[in-house]
Amino acid sequence: MLKKTAIICSVVLAVLIVIAVYVSDKEKPDPAPSEPQDSASQESQTISTTQTESLGSTEQSTAVTQESTAATMESTAATQESTAATKPSKPTETQKPTYSADQEEVAPAVAAFRSKCRKSWSNPLEAAFGEITGSRRFASSRSNGTRAHAGVDFVAPHGTAVYAMTDGVVQRIALFYQNTYAIEVLNDDGSVLRYCEVDPKVKEGDSVSQGQKIGTILRANSGTEMLHLEVYTGEATGKLTQADNKKYSYVDSSKVFQRRWDLMDPTFLTELPCWSEICA
Ligand SMILES: [Zn+2]
Repeated sequence: MLKKTAIICSVVLAVLIVIAVYVSDKEKPDPAPSEPQDSASQESQTISTTQTESLGSTEQSTAVTQESTAATMESTAATQESTAATKPSKPTETQKPTYSADQEEVAPAVAAFRSKCRKSWSNPLEAAFGEITGSRRFASSRSNGTRAHAGVDFVAPHGTAVYAMTDGVVQRIALFYQNTYAIEVLNDDGSVLRYCEVDPKVKEGDSVSQGQKIGTILRANSGTEMLHLEVYTGEATGKLTQADNKKYSYVDSSKVFQRRWDLMDPTFLTELPCWSEICA
């Protein structure tokens, strides 16, 4: 009985603190809406906090119940459920970032990302590769103009070695295009590289070091031989190919890339020095 009373008291105390926090919070301005955010990820974090909340913890219940003061009037257990239930199941269109790389507010972020890569990353090929022109360019037309090229193509012969551009962990290996494969690497700096149209020499879960041979260029069924390379900042979560996505933070949203919103134009990566030049 005493234990129950103690629990009820701490819940009432938590509710009072929450109301105080909520009232003072209302006077603060909303965070800037222009910041690119992964609303799906934020959502899952909030729900996970809710699920791990314990009855007696004033601190945790404060964080959770800030979302909904009304819900805190009920029991703590009920609050857990109703808070989760009031969260949208999917991010709405307006929550997604809507910038294009030409806009001033995005340019510094793109420049900073490129600068970071130029300082420490290396070229995925040691061998010579074709000029990045025409259909080899990023955003060039694909499928009779119905979509846009989401990467750049390093044209080089079948069997040409492909090297890790920076340290990371192989997240996924999957069939990509005409019987070739894609190696998705989560880099240690948080970004993601997708090395495509290759024959993988690593497996999912492997750590890779910059300059390590991770695969070779694989001739596609159509006869083409190239490394198709895509780069993502790593701010988003989920699959890299997203057929329905129409909003991008760093590339032109009017184009149909069918990729995740943190896609970057990788053209600058073709100018990087080889690993053997850097490490020499
Ligand atoms: Zn390509």
